[in-house]
Amino acid sequence: MVQRRTPVVAVDIGGTSIKGARVAPDGRILARARVATPVAEGTEAILEALARLCRSLAGRHPVRAVGLGVPGAIAPRRGLVHASPNVPCWHDEPLGPRLARRLGLHVTLDNDANLHALGEHWRGAGRGVRNLLLATLGTGVGGGLILGGRVWHGDTGRAGELGHTVVDPAGPVCGCGARGCVEAYASATGIVGAWRRAWSVDPARPRPRDRRILADTPRTIADRARRGDARARAVYAAAGRALGLAVADWIQILDVRTILLGGGVAGAFDLLEPLVRDELERRLFGVTPGTIRLERAALGDDAGILGAARLALGRDAG
Ligand SMILES: [Zn+2]
Repeated sequence: MVQRRTPVVAVDIGGTSIKGARVAPDGRILARARVATPVAEGTEAILEALARLCRSLAGRHPVRAVGLGVPGAIAPRRGLVHASPNVPCWHDEPLGPRLARRLGLHVTLDNDANLHALGEHWRGAGRGVRNLLLATLGTGVGGGLILGGRVWHGDTGRAGELGHTVVDPAGPVCGCGARGCVEAYASATGIVGAWRRAWSVDPARPRPRDRRILADTPRTIADRARRGDARARAVYAAAGRALGLAVADWIQILDVRTILLGGGVAGAFDLLEPLVRDELERRLFGVTPGTIRLERAALGDDAGILGAARLALGRDAG
């Protein structure tokens, strides 16, 4: 029987693995599991892997519902995946209804970045606020918006593509093809690209002495910046300023006072924050910069799972 204390199963579908957890209505993670995503084997195989993961997480316990985080363009109400970069064979795939039929359970789904924001709002750095914006600084820059306590989807479900906010039309080329998106500066790809440009390294034709530079990651570049390396400091300064320009725009449009930074590059929050704050001081109009809460996201890799759990719990979340 489904009671208020009955847990849910939360799942985060990544390109290489599917992570799942059984989560109590108060947000405690009761069990975890992970399987490889059988992308090459197609939709049936993925559905079967999902169903098996959900059943193994439930075990002999009653479970009330399943919440699913999927990267890409989603129609949450219909449980539809329009397209997903991780699973190229999906075109308007009715993933929610198909999994629900297999499991005999209610299944809800949403975009993974939205669920990161929802997780942070429920159990992370955004607890207790009505509105927040989470920018995830990973391989790219993703984002999620919580407005009035709920995920904001926009007119077609594509809201929160924060990474493609243009901060310099003459800037470096972004993964989307445009120039000067904030993602081209403040993502892992952007940081590594700027670092290589700073040393005039051409990854297609590296010189022997370039090997050390090519091995650097956002983390090692941040360590160099903290030790005073001028080029590394300049790379993070450019990322911080770009992020500051973008954050100023987001605040100006939405009047959101809680801005969270997540993802691997947010590990350099100490390097980025002063530059973001500096831009906010310069740019914000009619908003007192001191009223802006700029913080690092708190949940790390669990944000997506907890967001999916929150989605599955609906009004019964603790
Ligand atoms: Zn872009």
